[in-house]
This record gives sequence, C-alpha cells and structure tokens, in this order.
Amino acid sequence: MRRVGVLSLQGDVGEHVAILESLDVDVVKVRTPEHLESVEALIVPGGESTTIAHLLLTSGLKDELGARIKDGLPVFGTCAGLILLSTEVLDGRSDQWSYAALALSVRRNGYGRQIASFESPLHVKGLGEVAGVFIRAPKIEHVDESVEVLASYDHGDGAHPVLVRQGLVWGASFHPELAHDARVHGLFLDSI
Ligand code: GLN
Repeated sequence: MRRVGVLSLQGDVGEHVAILESLDVDVVKVRTPEHLESVEALIVPGGESTTIAHLLLTSGLKDELGARIKDGLPVFGTCAGLILLSTEVLDGRSDQWSYAALALSVRRNGYGRQIASFESPLHVKGLGEVAGVFIRAPKIEHVDESVEVLASYDHGDGAHPVLVRQGLVWGASFHPELAHDARVHGLFLDSI
C-alpha cells in the first residue's frame, strides 16, 4: 500500500487524514524528519502558513522537506500549504519564507479576511464539478507558463487559478479536504 504523509504540525490535519484513509493508502502523520523519510508523497494542509513555517523550523523538517521536494517528492499544498510551496508570497509577514516549488505568486488572504470565507462550485479539469471551500484563501495572482491550471474561479475580478500543478507539486487555494469528496486527492495520487 502507498504511504502518504500529512504534514501534522498545525492546521486541518484530521480532515486530510480521513480523506486519504478513504482512498486506501497508508497515512503517516509527519512531525519529524524520520516520519518524512518513510513517505512517498506528502500533503501540506491548510492552517496558518506563518505558524506552519515556524514549526517546520523548530521540528527540523524545513531543510529535509526542501531536499525531498528537490528530489521529486510529490507534494500537494492546500491553502496555507499552497502558500508554503509558492515562489512569491504577497502580503506575507516580512520574514515569511516559502519553498519556491510552484512558480507562481500568491497573495495571502487575497479573497478577504475570515468574514469573506465562501463556497462555490468549481470545474476541475479531468474531474468535473467539485465544491470549492475557501477560508481566508490565498489568491493566485500570477502563474509561470510551466504551471498547469486545473481549475479557475472568478470572484468578480476575473478568473484566477485555484488548483494548479507543476510536475509532481500541486497546490489548491481552496480546501478539497473539507468537501467530503476524495476525488481531488485521488487525482493527485493518480498523477504520481
Ligand atoms: N490565510 C492563511 C495563511 O496565510 C491561510 C488560510 C487557510 O489555510 N485556511 O496562512
């Protein structure tokens, strides 16, 4: 059985674990470099990107994960996870760092604050309609041509990508783990 990790430092870890378990994979909650070594793919959940970034440092995972990503580890970042994988973070904290594994610019809270959280149906390439749950979501403002856009959404200011992939690195500005629907995770795992 495939061993898939969920970075379990902060954020909505449990929801990702539940979805992965429904997909018949062996799920590892990744909190240490040893846990990371054992997985063949990793989900970086939503939560607070600055908090997760801090805990990556204190757990000793920051550099290990960077090296695994460079080595081709398939990674899927949702919401805060997308921010952590991006090349450029707009409206980030002054000391905010990210892995630069997805060649795109993302704006933190780009759809508004908590009050502006919302849900909308999305059309995902190869899947059809899925429920898009956006919570203090980052907005992807620019993608390099090396990034494939799998879904976009127009919040009234033109279409912006909301699900993207660059090779084995995937990112979503919404929360596929909150929609009680395993198909987006399934699509990611099928691509490995
Ligand atoms: N706005 C959060 C951040 O900057 C992300 C929100 C989320 O993951 N739901 O980390």
